Amino acid sequence: MKIKNINSLNSLQGKKIFLRLDFNVPMKAGKIKDDYKIKAGLETINFLMLKKSSLIIATHLGKPKGKNDKKLSTAPLARRLAKLSGKPVKFIPDLVGDKAKKAVLKIKPGEIIFLENLRFNQGELDNDNNFAKELASLADIYVNDAFAVSHRAQASVSAIKKYLPAYAGLLLAKEVQAIHRALKPKKPLVTIMGGAKIATKAPLIKSLYPASKYILLGGGLANNFLKFYGLEIGRSLYDKDSLPIIKKLLKNKLKNKKIILPIDVVVQEKSGRIKSKKVADVKKSETIFDIGPETVNLYAGMIKKAQTLIWNGPMGKFEEISFKYGTMAIARLMASRSSGKAYGIAGGGETVEALKMSGMMEHVDWISTAGGAMLAYLSKEKMPGLTKIIS
Ligand code: ADP
Ligand code: MG
Repeated sequence: MKIKNINSLNSLQGKKIFLRLDFNVPMKAGKIKDDYKIKAGLETINFLMLKKSSLIIATHLGKPKGKNDKKLSTAPLARRLAKLSGKPVKFIPDLVGDKAKKAVLKIKPGEIIFLENLRFNQGELDNDNNFAKELASLADIYVNDAFAVSHRAQASVSAIKKYLPAYAGLLLAKEVQAIHRALKPKKPLVTIMGGAKIATKAPLIKSLYPASKYILLGGGLANNFLKFYGLEIGRSLYDKDSLPIIKKLLKNKLKNKKIILPIDVVVQEKSGRIKSKKVADVKKSETIFDIGPETVNLYAGMIKKAQTLIWNGPMGKFEEISFKYGTMAIARLMASRSSGKAYGIAGGGETVEALKMSGMMEHVDWISTAGGAMLAYLSKEKMPGLTKIIS
């Protein structure tokens, strides 16, 4: 894999850089709830400041659907960036209009301009060439440091590269390298998958199947397979369209011994009582909310043999205290193996939440907050944001 990294360019002095970041942070009533993405962006920003370039920063925030929406203005992000970086950041409430063009004319080396929410313009969502061209006209060089949106065909990560020389930011380069390592895994590779929607997870199972020694399933995802094999799953979370997906997935693989299902589960009875039992004993009136202790033991044995571990999706409804044990056990196993014995990566919105809850974050080799993009990359889907940057 070759990465056109921005740190390979010799002279950046006085160059205007269009820096696409992912500052799509969780917000509540106009306030930033968690600024880890802004902190993560500082590395590339500081690097480019040291090189005396001029920065034109842009990001999306939420889903304003191509229209102005005051509540989703990026102004608070610009203010937080100024605070965290200790440098003046000039917010421009514009994207490709006169205000932006004027500001860019006046910008000096070492200065930062922060544009309004990219998704206020429908052209962004449509990957529109004209909009991309106008964005490009603001700068000399394009840098993508927003891996989280690099699986999307949108103007500021895709079409813009037709009009500017394009490079990877430091964070994006690191993220792609970390995830790529799992695609060329040191074997045995053990893949652990759970969570909810099978439609979004099936491509990953398919793509990781050949290289994996085992694919350990849990969560709502496993329920679909249990049902497919004719087991009672009661009132459990289940995708009614999952049958054809699983059939297709297991085509020619029906004798497979790679896909491993829970042997016991934690269920809640109608009365509210919670207990663990064998999968064959689940009743119509019960709901599966977690994997059981025997399953944890079985999975632990397989995880301990792995040289590479990939984890996406919680093993149960971990947000509720009674059902978090399966997921917390996997988090601990990931942590204990990742620290030197195996290479471990984990990703997905709720998976990261679960790891945070477990207190095991720093013991896993790579944790990707870019759930969708990581799944797309590992599933070998097209990555419009990476073309011309990574080959
Ligand atoms: P990620 O964002 O990590 O990819 P998903 O979005 O696929 O994960 O799914 C996570 C959600 O699935 C969690 O909120 C969790 O509560 C839910 N979940 C997992 N297993 C079950 C289950 N057995 N019953 C109900 N909800 C479940
Ligand atoms: Mg999720």
